[in-house]
Amino acid sequence: MLKFIIHGIAIAFLTVLTQVGGIVYLIVLALSNRYQLNLLKSSGLFLGTYMVVCLLILPFLAPMFGRVALPVTGNLKPLNYITCLLNRHYVRTELREQLVGVSDRINKQFEGTKTNYLDANFPFYDGFPLFPHLSHNDGRKVDIAFYYTNQETKAYSNSAPSFIGYGIYEGPAANETNYPKQCADKGYWQYGFLNYLIPHWKADKFSVDVKRTGTLIRSLATDQRTSKIFLEPHLKQRWKLGGYNKIRFHGCQAVRHDDHIHLQL
Ligand SMILES: [Zn+2]
Repeated sequence: MLKFIIHGIAIAFLTVLTQVGGIVYLIVLALSNRYQLNLLKSSGLFLGTYMVVCLLILPFLAPMFGRVALPVTGNLKPLNYITCLLNRHYVRTELREQLVGVSDRINKQFEGTKTNYLDANFPFYDGFPLFPHLSHNDGRKVDIAFYYTNQETKAYSNSAPSFIGYGIYEGPAANETNYPKQCADKGYWQYGFLNYLIPHWKADKFSVDVKRTGTLIRSLATDQRTSKIFLEPHLKQRWKLGGYNKIRFHGCQAVRHDDHIHLQL
């Protein structure tokens, strides 16, 4: 019975995290039982099978569901390669073209600049949510990291204070609209919860590169393919983006957007 519960939890966890990991786990479990494999061999078989599925099979199957993988190298890349190993970098072709185009333009304007994406969507099925982003379920959504400069040298840095790009905030100043506080006061505990989960040891080594980040947002906000961009209202105000009506507030039921940009078609 305990074994049954552990396998159930593992399958649910892997499905939520990677979409296909639970199925791979089930197949490997069946093979392990059939051939009486020990834990070490079963784990090796799982990792090997998962990597083959993730790197070689999914990129070919996803287009049948109208999705393609985002690039792994070049001007557009993941901030953290784990995003791709978890199959969280699939989008519709139109969104891929938009992102590749804008990252090439930014790279031309600011030589050497890489645009780092965060979570996008899973490869299959509209409506299958990418936890914890419930709206990332149709290939039309992607999160993009801010650009940062090194606090000491003031030079552009192709990195971010948070290793996953989320959870280290460019918070509101005393005279700015403070939705994090308003949402917390209304009881939306999840709004800023990543602050408590993400290590802050690199937080004061970086500053947001407002010039590059503002250029990216303006470019996306004037692109016909964009339907909405989510950004925390105090940053919209501070970065003088008031004239762009596609830049919206996402609501207290979501999470803070002063650590990344959310873009959707
Ligand atoms: Zn998002």
